[in-house]
This record gives sequence, C-alpha cells and structure tokens, in this order.
Amino acid sequence: MLKLMGFVSGRLQSYKDVWSKSLSVTLFFITSLIFFPLIYHFSIALQPSKIQASNGLVSIKHSDFSSRNTLALAGEWAFYWQQLLDPEQIKSTKVSPSFVQANGGWQSQSNKQSYQAIGYATYHLDLSLQTNSNNLALQIPAIESAYKVFVNSDLMATGGQVSDIESSARPNYHTTIVKIPDGLTHFSITLQVSNYHSSWGGLWKPIVLGDIHALHTLQRDKVALSMFILGTLLITVVHSLIQYFLRPKDNIPLVFACLCILLFLREFTVEHMSFILSTLTGGFVLITKLNFFSYYAGFPVGLYFFHLCYPKEFHRKFCILMYSICTLFSIFVLVFPTRYFGGSVVIFQLLAVVIMFYIFQRTWLAMKNNRRGAGVMLLGSIIAFGFVFNDILNMNNLISTGRFFSLGVIGFIVCQSFVTNGRFDNYIDKNAALTEKLKERNADLELLSGLLETKVEQRTQQLQKANKELKALANNDPLTKAYNRHGIQQYIMAAFERYRRTQEPFSILILDYDHFKQINDNYGHDVGDLVLMTGADLIKQTMREQDKLARWGGEEFLVLLPGTDLEGALSIGQKLKDKISAKPIGQPLGITVTVTIGVAQIQPAESFDKLFKRADDALYKGKQAGRNQICH
Ligand code: GH3
Ligand code: MG
Ligand code: MG
Repeated sequence: MLKLMGFVSGRLQSYKDVWSKSLSVTLFFITSLIFFPLIYHFSIALQPSKIQASNGLVSIKHSDFSSRNTLALAGEWAFYWQQLLDPEQIKSTKVSPSFVQANGGWQSQSNKQSYQAIGYATYHLDLSLQTNSNNLALQIPAIESAYKVFVNSDLMATGGQVSDIESSARPNYHTTIVKIPDGLTHFSITLQVSNYHSSWGGLWKPIVLGDIHALHTLQRDKVALSMFILGTLLITVVHSLIQYFLRPKDNIPLVFACLCILLFLREFTVEHMSFILSTLTGGFVLITKLNFFSYYAGFPVGLYFFHLCYPKEFHRKFCILMYSICTLFSIFVLVFPTRYFGGSVVIFQLLAVVIMFYIFQRTWLAMKNNRRGAGVMLLGSIIAFGFVFNDILNMNNLISTGRFFSLGVIGFIVCQSFVTNGRFDNYIDKNAALTEKLKERNADLELLSGLLETKVEQRTQQLQKANKELKALANNDPLTKAYNRHGIQQYIMAAFERYRRTQEPFSILILDYDHFKQINDNYGHDVGDLVLMTGADLIKQTMREQDKLARWGGEEFLVLLPGTDLEGALSIGQKLKDKISAKPIGQPLGITVTVTIGVAQIQPAESFDKLFKRADDALYKGKQAGRNQICH
C-alpha cells in the first residue's frame, strides 16, 4: 500500500514538473505576445522623425511631417555662448553666432569648439514652412537646467529662472507644449538657457514641432505607459512584501521588493513624469538625485537578488566588491551637488555592463547546474538587460530608440514572479510532506510512550516487591518467618512507651527447646529445622493478634505479650508449652519435643536488659528443675 502511494506521489511530482516547465514556456510566449507589440508601438510612436537644421536655418516641407505629424528639430542651431539675448537683440547683434547640435547638451559638441557645462547661452533657429501652419505647436523637453523660449518676439514658456548670475538662477524640470500662432510661414525660435546645476547644459533632446493634437497624444501615451509600469511595479512590491511577511526566513522576496521600489523611483523620475515633483521647492535636485540613486543602487540590489537565488554560482568576494563600489556611487549622488554627477555616469555604465554580463554568465551556469528556476531567471535577465543595454546606447546617442528599460523590467518581473511562486509552491509541498512525517513520528512516539508506561509500572511493582523482600530479610528470620531481634525491636519499644504513659503492664516469654542438640544429632539438621518451623507456626496460631514472636537465636524464641501481666503470661506460656509437646513432628518419625519457658513481667523503672535477664534466669531455673517447665 505504502509502495503504491509512493509511486502515485512520485508520478504526480513528475507531472507537476512537466506542468511547471510547460507553464513557464507558455508564460514567456504570453508575455512576448503582450509586450513586444507594445514596445514596438511605443518605440515608433514616441520617437518623432527628425529634420536636420543647418546654420541655424531649417525649411520644412509638408512631406517632412511623417504620418505622426511630429518633427524633431535637430541639426545646427545658432548659438551665442555666455549671452542671454532677446529675439530683438539677435536681430540687431553684430556678433556672429557659432553653430551647435540641438541635442546632447552644449558641452558634448563634436566640433572644435567645446563649452563648459556650467554657463549660459542663447539658441536660435529660423524656420520657414511650406505647409499648412495651422494648429502647430512646440513640445519643449526638459532643458538643463532653466530656460525661456520665444517664438518670434513672444515669450512662450519658461522653466525655472534663467540668469547670468548663479545666485539668482533657479533650476526646474519643466516640459510643456506651446502653440504657435496660426498662419505663420516664417518664424524663429529663441531659447535662453542658463545652467548651474547640471552636468549637461542646454538642450538634451531636440524640441519637437508638430500638430498640437499629435503632440498631446504623444505626451499622453508616454504618461500612460509610465503609469502602467508604475502600477505593475507597485503591485509587485506589495506582492513580494506579502510573500516576505508570510515567510520572513526567506529574504529573496524582500530584496526583490527593494529592487522594484528602486525601479519605481527610476520610472517616477523620468522626464515626462517630472511634472509631479517639479513644482516642489528643490524639485529639480530631488528628481535628479532620485533618478541617479535608483540607477546606482538598483544594480547592487539586482546583483544581490541573483546572489541570494544562486549562492553557489556567485562569487561572494566579487559581489561584495561590486556592492561596495555601487554603494560609493550611491552615497556620492546623495551627498554631492547635482552638477558633479556627469563623470560618474560614464564610469558607472562600464560597471553596469560588467555586472550585467557577470549575472548572465552565472545564471547560465546555474541553469546548467539544474538550479531551480534558473532558466526562467536567465530569460528574465536577458529581457531586462536587453533594455538596459538599449538605454545605455540611447543615452550615449549611439542609437535613438528611446528609453524602455522599465518596460523590460516587466518582462523580468513576470519571469521572476513565476520562479518565486514556484519556490513558494515547493515550500508548501515540503511542508505537507513534513506534516505527514511528523504525524507518523507522533504515532510512533505515542506507541513508545504507552510501552514505556507499562514498563515503568512493571519495574515499579518489581521494585516494591524487592523492597518488601529486603525489609522482610532485614526484620524477619528466613527459616521460621518470625521476627528477628531487629524486627521485634519496634514492638518492644512501643510496649515500653505505652507502659510509661499508661502503666499498662506487658510480659515476655523466653522459650528454649529441650535437648535440641540431640534432635539434630539423631535425625539431622533438616529435621531440627522442621521442628523449629513447626514450633514457630504453632506459637503464631496460639498467640493473640497483638502478641509478637521473635527468634532470639538458635532454638531460643522470645514472645512479647503487650497488655499482659505475669499471670496472663504464665497461662499463655502454659498453653504454648502444651501445644508444642502435644504435636508429634516429622511424620512418620513422630518426634515429640518439649520446651522450657522463662516468664517475666515488666517492673517499674526496669530496662529491657534487666527484664530479659529475669526471664532468662527463670528459663535457667526451669532447665535446672528438669526441663519441660514454665518458671518465673
Ligand atoms: P538444653 O535442654 O540444655 O537446652 O539442651 P540443648 O541440647 O538444647 O542445648 P543448647 O541449647 O546448648 O543447644 C542448642 C543447639 O541447637 C545447638 C545447635 O546445634 C542447635 N541449633 C541452633 N540453631 C539451630 C538451627 O537453626 N537448626 C538446627 N537444626 N539446629 C540448631
Ligand atoms: Mg535447648
Ligand atoms: Mg539454647
């Protein structure tokens, strides 16, 4: 029966394995089906097509607008370094501008001229439109770190406080959409920027020109995507924390919750979500610091997560080194002003790539070592790191796909949740098996304890019996079962005590067989013993309940008669003597024996020794007088 059950449960287990494997593959395909079209859609929808300005001029034809009706104004803009010029001043200035690319910040220009990150400048672009200019608008991205934007001579939007004096400048992440007056065929964009707070001054991403509705749709899509990602991350955090509180011994869900919190912060501080925090005082610093911190702290927490999942595959020392370096980076962004962050990113990106490849390689190894869930985890990390890699390339302007790391994270979360839930399921199975085992053990224990109880009871009874025997041995004569000298002691003392308190007399008899030696000599010791035993039995039968018999030594007996005076003692003695001599012993031998008895009654202030001596003397007298006597 047991064998059959074992076979059935083994079968179920193997079905479960197959089921979990096929489920993981199904999950992957479902995730792919949902996410890859989503990513494809957003990567196209969120990236406007570009037009390259040249020498601060751009001419836009109708065909330049893609089907999405948006156009990023990239290329060369006129640039006035360390000058904050109004549109009017630009018209009248004699100073000829230099030309810079309108993205990547002014300090990362590829021409010979390079600018410091800290400073102020004016960008200017003249546009001519060969298309319907109604309902056009500009989408102003986050410009580092304060700006004023003019269309022709009208101020259209400001972000923070632009100034040529550091103390009066105020940074802000302010993205907005400004409408261009209808019917213009020529117009100019003038952008004053000052930067004292960021490592990247100026335009980081190009300004986008487009149909106002298309721009709003673009903005809405970006925010919707972020909201979706934030919601997913939040649910994962709550789910992981619940898992952790249900089983606090296992740290993995807690570490995963921390990782998701950092990813949440990162998504929360991206450009198009910055409107939530940018109105706060110090909003710019807060957003920048949270953004960097979540990036720098996310990698060690991610590594720790994998390290905990597969401790045998990850080298402890290497991981600790990485944690330490990343911690330094994280502390750096928390402590130092935001304008110094620039250089750290480049170094950290290298570190990130190292950590990523390390995790890949180790998880690959874990998969080869058949570790639980390693295949799914590898898949999750490939999805996540694919997007990280995309982001790094995108941030360095090597590709222009957009930043989608957080979306990749969702793929990772799905894989990870599957593995974590698998672990939970495994714990439940293990628990059930353990409970079953415990029940069996309990039943065994109950049986054993029952057996033990009966054993203890048996032993106690044996001990009590042995104790009784020992007591009997100590107090009684083994041959006649009468008391020995020690055994009768307590009754003698009790009689003395009673006499002292109530003057109630007591007496003793000393009884000695006559010519006992001859019996031994004639019939042997065994017969002698038989005589003694028979005699003791006769005495016990004859005497009263309260009377006590002791073998005093050899063939000599003492009878204690409490509450009996001399007269009573003499009559009892007489009765004993008669009975003993009347009974022939040892059929068919038919031996008759006689006894001589000495009697004494206690006298005032007399010790036992003296009392005994008087009885012994009386016995001696009886022997002298020819034996078979009772004397006092
Ligand atoms: P008397 O009439 O003067 O008492 O003569 P007796 O032979 O009885 O003399 P005595 O009291 O001196 O001798 C006691 C004898 O009893 C000696 C000893 O061998 C015998 N005896 C003592 N204890 C035992 C016993 O346990 N079993 C047997 N068979 N004999 C015993
Ligand atoms: Mg004798
Ligand atoms: Mg004797």
